[in-house]
Amino acid sequence: MTTSKVLNAFLQQRPVKMLIGGEWVEAASGKTFSSLNPATGEVLAEVAEGESEDINRAVAAARNAFESGAWPKMTPSQRGALLWKLADLLEQHAEEFAELETLDNGKPIKYARAVDVPLAVDHFRYFAGWATKLEGETIPVSIPNMFTYTLREPLGVIGQIIPWNFPLQMAAWKLAPALACGNTCVLKPAEQTPLSALRLGELICAAGFPEGVVNIVPGFGETAGSALAAHPDVDKIAFTGSTEVGRKIVQASAGNLKKVTLELGGKSPNIIFQDADLKYAIRGAMNAVFFNQGQVCTAGSRLFVHQSVYEQVVDGLCSYAQQMKIGPGISPDTELGPLVSEEQRQRVASYIERGKEEGATLLTGGKCPQSETLKGFFLQPTIFDHVHDDMTIAREEIFGPVVVALPFESVDELAARANKSMYGLAAGVWTNNIKIAHRMAATLKAGVVWVNTYNMFDAAAPFGGYKQSGYGREMGHAVLDAYTQLKTVWISTR
Ligand code: NAD
Repeated sequence: MTTSKVLNAFLQQRPVKMLIGGEWVEAASGKTFSSLNPATGEVLAEVAEGESEDINRAVAAARNAFESGAWPKMTPSQRGALLWKLADLLEQHAEEFAELETLDNGKPIKYARAVDVPLAVDHFRYFAGWATKLEGETIPVSIPNMFTYTLREPLGVIGQIIPWNFPLQMAAWKLAPALACGNTCVLKPAEQTPLSALRLGELICAAGFPEGVVNIVPGFGETAGSALAAHPDVDKIAFTGSTEVGRKIVQASAGNLKKVTLELGGKSPNIIFQDADLKYAIRGAMNAVFFNQGQVCTAGSRLFVHQSVYEQVVDGLCSYAQQMKIGPGISPDTELGPLVSEEQRQRVASYIERGKEEGATLLTGGKCPQSETLKGFFLQPTIFDHVHDDMTIAREEIFGPVVVALPFESVDELAARANKSMYGLAAGVWTNNIKIAHRMAATLKAGVVWVNTYNMFDAAAPFGGYKQSGYGREMGHAVLDAYTQLKTVWISTR
């Protein structure tokens, strides 16, 4: 079948079912919900709506797959081979996944092709390699006649709750390391974008993963999500989403003290010094905040610019913003697609209104274009000037294509201002001065600092937040600590 035939057959199921214990099933309640195409506002698919009963079934299936040894006792090389096979399958279906991601989320297809799908493939490959490298240590204790060593063991059943901005990548970030470490999973995709995770579930079955190792339950946060976070038989919750919901996850996890890792929001500073290559810095600043319609946790939404080049940078950014090709993500030349939902568009639009009310100057954008081709949830790239650090638009995460430009005079003043945020996810620095680059990298309170680049991600490089941007790290070998526990064994040799 051609890509579009496979995709149509998938989308035309009524409903698209959930994956529990190796079977595709409807919700216990029989309920369904609609997943919309944000470019048109039309229904893209009907999806089974999981609630607590479905979560209970999925957790039981994952527990069974874990305790029966179907997964953790499989040899590490077999586990690695299955993850590699999944990566191969995903790669073979790359075009179909790029289309599906674009239709469900709205993102421009050229980025879905170049970023979302290949990075997800790479993630499964990278962690396939780790399955055979999870080692314990021998410990030189000071007690005679003792042989002491550690075993690195999986945690058990992992609940994984993900957002809508990078649906396939988020599923890969969660599933790949958890599975490499021998855990079994219950994944709850975001209600706005459940489709690529469910289609990935079909590939997981096709690859030959034992039943119950991966369970995928679409549904809403307050029902399916909170049931998973509170479930007494879930050993760990890995959550990516807003800081507000992150707090609820921590509270819900307290019942059985499940382990928790959180990847939360951000309000990242992107800083342009006067000696930077401005051509690249301006382009970098544009990508930092408008990529994925600004719906990126690391979006460089506070743009600090040295006052001596402020006008030049802001003018350059405005002209980029005005030239951006806005359109349905599925058009090959689209650079800025729709926001994910009408609710999200309203949220972003209300921040724009708030910015104006608080006295900031709207330099460009701010409107929701509507036409024959722009029927969905579109919003122009938006730039504010004359912003104070304490304005709402300079403090709160907007999660849309909105940037505030902030001039600065000295490095010392800047560092304090850049760090004055409850968030600490990412930061960007543009300079040719090596001393400033290192000084800023050391001073910025953020889990990742990019110098003369922005939004770089790799399966091998750890990622996570400082402060209220979360705790724990994903990617790299750092994430293995989050999906394993150490057992210390003492053997008397006397
Ligand atoms: P959200 O917090 O509203 O939802 C995220 C997920 O949590 C969804 O699956 C949702 O159904 C679920 N959820 C909602 N309420 C819940 C509850 N009470 N209990 C359990 N689950 C619940 O976030 P969103 O709007 O989908 O995504 C945007 C947010 O995600 C932004 O704040 C963004 O910064 C953050 N994000 C962070 C990272 C990162 O790696 N740090 C990556 C992407 C997105």
